[in-house]
Amino acid sequence: MKFFNKLIILFFVMYSCASDDTITPVIPPIESSFECNTPFYPKMPSPDSSENNYDYYTYVWQTEEGMQKLCVNSYAGVSEQSKNIINEVLKAASSRLGQLVPINITAYYNGISDLELVMNNWKALKMTSEGFDPSDYTAAAGVDFSNLHNGGQGELAQGFFEPDFPLGEAKKIIYHEFFHIYQNSHKFYFEETKNFGWNIDRIIDRSALDYIPFVGPVWLEEGGADFAAIMLSSEEDWIELKPFFTSVLDDAREVIEDAMTRSDIVHLEDYNTSDNIRRVESSNNPTGISRKFAYQYSGGAIAHLYLLKTGRATLNNLIFDYFINLAELERTHYGEGYKYAFEAYYGISLENFYLEFDDFMLKTREEQVTVLELD
Ligand SMILES: [Zn+2]
Repeated sequence: MKFFNKLIILFFVMYSCASDDTITPVIPPIESSFECNTPFYPKMPSPDSSENNYDYYTYVWQTEEGMQKLCVNSYAGVSEQSKNIINEVLKAASSRLGQLVPINITAYYNGISDLELVMNNWKALKMTSEGFDPSDYTAAAGVDFSNLHNGGQGELAQGFFEPDFPLGEAKKIIYHEFFHIYQNSHKFYFEETKNFGWNIDRIIDRSALDYIPFVGPVWLEEGGADFAAIMLSSEEDWIELKPFFTSVLDDAREVIEDAMTRSDIVHLEDYNTSDNIRRVESSNNPTGISRKFAYQYSGGAIAHLYLLKTGRATLNNLIFDYFINLAELERTHYGEGYKYAFEAYYGISLENFYLEFDDFMLKTREEQVTVLELD
């Protein structure tokens, strides 16, 4: 499973639109009907209002129908069966978690689909001139401030939905990607006023080395998506909860044990930022040797299970409250909304959690299995 985890990338294209200073009035679409695989707005619309460095937007697609729109845009080589699998997962996830934005998922078959066509449509939706790097195992999704007006987007390659990939695990991966759209749409959404908004400075600050995304540390975003995908896929009986989490625990333990042979002590906090993950997972690691990959997924998912099984957080805290209140807490606490959400809903400060969880991960497998109720 780890092999595939390595290939799962949260695709996050953030770029500034501020340089576009041509003043062209944007004529917003008057119909709320959202057409699949088509940019909804011709360009980024102007905000409805601005206050305290925040720009606020409401979109024409914010109708019951528009916000529920799920589009699987498939290309040559993608079978009916594969489309059905993707649709089944998206519908289940949408009804379990809710949906704030219309969603376009690009499903392609690397080697069969016309990649030029795939990229052109994808770039138009994402409002970007650069395509993504297609592979047989691409699975990525997200919501960017720069193209939120076109909804949430994701891309999936055949490696994950063709019959030679274990079906339950494939569905879990698709669920994981849906969860990224869920997380990243909530980080911009204000339930009370039913609008989206952000402080552009928080986005520009992204260039800082120690930048923690709105959603929270990388391990929380990726591990949270994996945790939710495993829990909710097991609710659907697509996978078996205990064996699945046990294998994730073993993956996490392997990273720790391998690093330990070089006196490289693994801390969850090492997986806070993409830059630091690249550092510890390469020869730039202070020991000169890379750690085994992807503790942000395995350790991150186990961290969520630990919060649940120690009674610090309920499943609803972990999959709903944290994300639903993130935008509001970020607005009150610039750059630190995730810390406040963590403490409010996970019953412990992030700082103390790091100490407690790192300690837990050094316990025997038997003790861990008991606490995590995997026996
Ligand atoms: Zn991910």
